[in-house]
Amino acid sequence: MKIITEPTPAVRWFSRPFVNSVQLQRLGAIALSSSIFVIDTASSIHIAIAVLYVAVILMSVNLFSRKGVIGVSLVCIGLTLTAFVIGHGFELYDGSFARLLVSLSAIGMTTVLALKNKSATDELQEQVRLLAQTHDAIIVRDMNHVITQWSPGAEALYGWTKSQAVGQDFRALLSPQLMTSWDQMMACLLETGHWEGEVIEHCRDGACVTVVSRCSLSLGANNQPKAILATHNDISDRKRAIEALQRSEAFLAGAQWLSQTGSIGLKIPSGEMYWSKEARRIFEFNADEPPTLTSILAKTHPDDIEIVKAAIKNAFQKAPHIKTEYRLSMADGRVKHLQMLAQLVKDGDEDSEYVGALMDVTDTRMAEEALHRSEVQLAHFSRVATLGELAASIAHEVNQPLAAVATNGTAGLRWLNRDTPDIGEVRSAIERMVSETHRASEVIRRIRAMARKTEPQKAALNLVEIIDESLALVGRELKRNKVELERGFDVEAVSVTGDRVQLQQVIINLLMNAMQAMANAKIKRRTLHLRLLHSDDGSVSFEIKDSGPGISSDRMPMLFMAFYTTKQEGMGMGLSICRSIIEAHGGRIWATSEPGEGAVFHLSLPISPWEQP
Ligand code: ADP
Repeated sequence: MKIITEPTPAVRWFSRPFVNSVQLQRLGAIALSSSIFVIDTASSIHIAIAVLYVAVILMSVNLFSRKGVIGVSLVCIGLTLTAFVIGHGFELYDGSFARLLVSLSAIGMTTVLALKNKSATDELQEQVRLLAQTHDAIIVRDMNHVITQWSPGAEALYGWTKSQAVGQDFRALLSPQLMTSWDQMMACLLETGHWEGEVIEHCRDGACVTVVSRCSLSLGANNQPKAILATHNDISDRKRAIEALQRSEAFLAGAQWLSQTGSIGLKIPSGEMYWSKEARRIFEFNADEPPTLTSILAKTHPDDIEIVKAAIKNAFQKAPHIKTEYRLSMADGRVKHLQMLAQLVKDGDEDSEYVGALMDVTDTRMAEEALHRSEVQLAHFSRVATLGELAASIAHEVNQPLAAVATNGTAGLRWLNRDTPDIGEVRSAIERMVSETHRASEVIRRIRAMARKTEPQKAALNLVEIIDESLALVGRELKRNKVELERGFDVEAVSVTGDRVQLQQVIINLLMNAMQAMANAKIKRRTLHLRLLHSDDGSVSFEIKDSGPGISSDRMPMLFMAFYTTKQEGMGMGLSICRSIIEAHGGRIWATSEPGEGAVFHLSLPISPWEQP
């Protein structure tokens, strides 16, 4: 059986001692057989010289294949018969014929035995050849641990050549460190005939390698242990890879714990799930509880069940990405906020797989809620403070209709008290009273709305209406401060989504700031230009330009910072609150100021989709 056509370096290594002498030995065999033939033919000695052909056959065993050996044997028989015929003719009944038969039988038996032996040797050599091809190191040592065989694999692994290693003490050369003791290893080997284990060994260059050593005991005569045959398989790279994997798993577990992020895997359509330790901890699943889609739903907050069901449905429809945020309702009443992001990593005909991350964002959501609450509270305080600043004009706003009610009431009574009451005049007076009462209650309604502390409510609003309402609240104050108002709106109505009171608060704040800036400046005309423009990007922008002192470029960066104020009684919270309100509405607020041109405050808000062309 020919297994390898191209000899490997290892095979060449094993066949090295034979190659050079083959030709020489063949020549030797030819010379020997020729000599035997000559002596056999020419000599008159009455012995079976042809028996010496046995030596030629034995030589040929190492030099030729099976067929070759048979061929050599036939040649030897031929030469024996030729020499007999030359020496004795065809006299078959004297002693020489008996010697011929002895010689022929010796040649025949030797050939049979040699061929048998050759089969065994070839088989052994084939095994050695196969062994030599393995990358494993094969080391044979005697019972005193002196190395007797050292394979090419061992040369490659440890760096010592065969000639350097053979004859050395195995333990002195490789300094093997076993996981068990040396005595335990030997006891096991002698008792069972085998031992297997991990060993750390030293190479010629000083490096350490970890190998799996498989030892088996070779028995000699009387079943006495003769040698130890060991194969050493280098697992250093595998070991390093496993260690690196374990390290990165530990890093990942640490990072997951720190960031409160777990990983999950989901197979579609089987619904089989994989969970990291942190993912289980977030869901508070027991270690022996295999998480399933059903158990996930069981832990989901009742109000968010539909969100989770929709995400599961998307997964079964093989959506490339799934992103969702929902809450868990724990057994003791705690609520956890989760963010989940999953990606389809394998999309097969038979099955698909998602890998995702889920993050416990409870702390963040709590902090956001607390921040939101304090923002709402702060905005409320700021509104109340603004109302305080407007108290005088508000009182006037309410007083005016009340005075009108009183005047019209008195007039109505007079018309009634006449000898002939004038019902028409009385009706007109009452109608005016009703209208003035409505005016007063409208002012009070606006003030109450501003003073009320409510959660922001998002609704579709007409921004023009909000600006007008804000102007109505500060209108009296503007008049008192002799501010001329110029209104340049390119739209009648524009829809934005937001909270009416909060948006009013922003506009009032900007109007009041502009008015205060102009009131404190020595300027001839106090003007306020209001502009409302549609932008191309689907937003509406509102500008308030005053004719005050403006804002120098060095103050500009601080303008929207909390507690930045240049006013003696100022809190410095107005513009900072304005910015958080506008940003919460998806808009932007900023200021510009050209020297000597006053200040311009711009705010832009997205137009509600249904209003867009
Ligand atoms: P406060 O009104 O309590 O000072 P704001 O946050 O509303 O707080 O305003 C911060 C500062 O911005 C004001 O103190 C003022 O210096 C400056 N500012 C605001 N609006 C104008 C304006 N129209 N012209 C000039 N400066 C202004």
